Amino acid sequence: MERIKKKVLEKIEKSKTEQIKFLKRLVSTRSVNPYMKDPAKSSPREPVELKAAELIFNKLKEIGLSPKFEGLSPLRPNVVCQFGKKGKTLIFNGHLDTVPPAQGCRVKPFSAVIKAGKLYGVGSLDMKASLCCYLFMAKALLPYKNHLKGKISLQFVIDEEPLAASPFGTKYLLERGYLGDAAIIGEPGSHKITIGNKGGYRFELEVFGSPVHTGRLAGMGGEKRGLECDIGNGKSNQGPGEFSLS
Ligand SMILES: [Zn+2]
Repeated sequence: MERIKKKVLEKIEKSKTEQIKFLKRLVSTRSVNPYMKDPAKSSPREPVELKAAELIFNKLKEIGLSPKFEGLSPLRPNVVCQFGKKGKTLIFNGHLDTVPPAQGCRVKPFSAVIKAGKLYGVGSLDMKASLCCYLFMAKALLPYKNHLKGKISLQFVIDEEPLAASPFGTKYLLERGYLGDAAIIGEPGSHKITIGNKGGYRFELEVFGSPVHTGRLAGMGGEKRGLECDIGNGKSNQGPGEFSLS
């Protein structure tokens, strides 16, 4: 098993150029969720993430997998893909939609430009880079699928940004039987795998300063500090129920 693990890791490392190329395409493919302020208006028949879903679907096919579209309408599908053996199932789940570009964004939001080793663009951090990781993990793992002791279930879901409780995305898949014994959600955060997460508590608050993901410590990146706001515990993803403003 150690030998296989080494080969898988080497394969992932070798595909770095392909990974970056694909991530650039994914970030350039708009999937901005227009219902951030009014999730109840979200429709399963509006093709918000369709182009991104098709891109992922085609890449999975190119890799040699058999993806499926699963959704309430063909205009707004989730993408699912499973491989491995009977046994326990490990889910990798991530959302295809993004928030709108931040006001005052200093790069073109869909340019996926790389500067000083970092790729910039709407949704690159949250969470198209993670979707890209799932894909290339699957690509590297696929030749060894018979050595797996269970099943890998990849889920690329829609409509998660506004409330993370959409009936069309993860909830829909769960209700359709896409269940697992464990799940990894590659949301940005502390660079550690944690077993809990802060819950959602939504309200409107207007502040001025640098835009920052709620899973990260405000002010990271060395930007000038104005009034910055990080809803969470500041250490990110360390436990449910914690809440502070800083
Ligand atoms: Zn997210």
